[in-house]
Amino acid sequence: MSVIESIHVDGQWQTAAAGGTREILDPADATTLAVVAEGGTEDTDAAISAARRAFDEGEWPHTPTAERAALLRRVADYLQRDREEIALTESRDTGKTLEEGRVDVDDVTNAFRYFADLVMNESGGRVVDAGSADVHSVVVHEPVGVCAMITPWNYPLLQASWKVAPALAAGNTFVIKPSEVTPLSTIHLVKLVVEAGAPAGVANIVTGAGDPVGARFGTHPGVDLVSFTGGLVSGTKVGQAAIASAKKVALELGGKNPNVVFADACATEEGFDTAVDQALNAAFIHSGQVCSAGSRLIVEESVRERFIAELSSRAQKIRLGRGTEEGVECGPLVSAQQLAKTEMYVASALDEGAVLRCGGERPEPSEVRPADGYFYSPTVLDNCHRGMKVIREETFGPILTVETFRTEDEAVALANDTEYGLAGAVFSSDTARARRVAARLRHGTIWINDFHPYLPQAEWGGFGKSGVGRELGPHGLAEYRETKHVYENLRPAPVRWFAG
Ligand code: NAD
Repeated sequence: MSVIESIHVDGQWQTAAAGGTREILDPADATTLAVVAEGGTEDTDAAISAARRAFDEGEWPHTPTAERAALLRRVADYLQRDREEIALTESRDTGKTLEEGRVDVDDVTNAFRYFADLVMNESGGRVVDAGSADVHSVVVHEPVGVCAMITPWNYPLLQASWKVAPALAAGNTFVIKPSEVTPLSTIHLVKLVVEAGAPAGVANIVTGAGDPVGARFGTHPGVDLVSFTGGLVSGTKVGQAAIASAKKVALELGGKNPNVVFADACATEEGFDTAVDQALNAAFIHSGQVCSAGSRLIVEESVRERFIAELSSRAQKIRLGRGTEEGVECGPLVSAQQLAKTEMYVASALDEGAVLRCGGERPEPSEVRPADGYFYSPTVLDNCHRGMKVIREETFGPILTVETFRTEDEAVALANDTEYGLAGAVFSSDTARARRVAARLRHGTIWINDFHPYLPQAEWGGFGKSGVGRELGPHGLAEYRETKHVYENLRPAPVRWFAG
């Protein structure tokens, strides 16, 4: 299989300077999907230098906002033009279903259009009243400079777009390092940015490992901002390196997201059906490999048995298979490592006293489920409590744990009992209660009677150890801008602070 020229530096697609390569595996059968360049420090330094030159000497930071917005809109159009191809790439690379891949392409198309509109609306300065007619004082925004981006494997296209779109809208140049496990859709995205007219050096990509490629972003003096999405362990390393050299840093980290279900939500058949259905979506979409996965079901004691019985029965019916197969609802885990991690968490939970209600094993191979694929059955673990590893740590697999409560205060305490704080949900037919609980939950996104939707115009990010900063929304653009105050004295005269 020939090596894809997956490194893009200063307008040139190329292989790695040291000749390194990496096989990208299809998680549905562990066969090789593609071979990409494995970049190293030399490639990373070259990419950062190119981005630096394009920022310091190039036209892009000074390009009129309307032109930058137009480039973003062209990227959005090309994403739609290539929708099927990108969705297929994403599905084969990550294991997610083709339909999920299409949804991702549509979502990121909206994100590019949103940031194009936003930057147009927010391109003017803000005049500040300096308290004197002789002073004109205005606050303006400028790009930060060279932005280095690191993304994870679960939503490669989406996480890359949430960074690339606002960075370009604001006039920055960038170097992106996608996850070494799933780099393919990000390579496609950079091609679209180039096709849309980004000048050489503005959009660079280096495929390769977290260390050395991503690690170099934090230490290289040519980088102004590091934006990271991924796990807590690598995120804190990236954050420390960036802060050590006083770079701006944004971290989007993990979650341990509660889904609180009150008995009143289940009082009618329709309500019960909806709450169970959403609990399944919350936990098992993309086999639970979602930062905002509702992996902790916190259900009111009085409906517990009925709820778990129905949930487990439906979870067993989820059709697992290769994401590109018709009728498949859930794909494999992304890698052998992720599969082993899932097995470890289930074993540890059972060891600590959890009760297995369904799953807990690799499914039998079938026509749509090759034997070598990294499949794991949706798993429901009952009788869980806060002392367990499976409750405390992000499992990032198809594991739903069940805890119960009797009072509203207890529900809130359980839901907030995590060092993370990314997202959470509350299901209740009592609007006042739902809003009251939502107000008390310490998480960056709260859904009431729903799970998972997000909007490009609303900020996304976490409380606690779920991160630093926000993506999407006006804040998502602000992260890529410096703020400058220009104070103009319209009637200059000596101030005579010093008598002589
Ligand atoms: P990860 O932390 O292992 O890797 C993320 C990225 O960091 C990869 O590109 C990796 O190569 C790179 N990396 C690893 N070590 C590095 C180092 N020392 N220096 C620089 N870069 C390094 O995470 P993952 O397993 O790819 O993704 C799963 C994690 O991502 C989960 O914790 C999930 O919750 C999180 N995530 C968060 C969000 C969010 O919006 N908050 C979204 C998606 C995923």
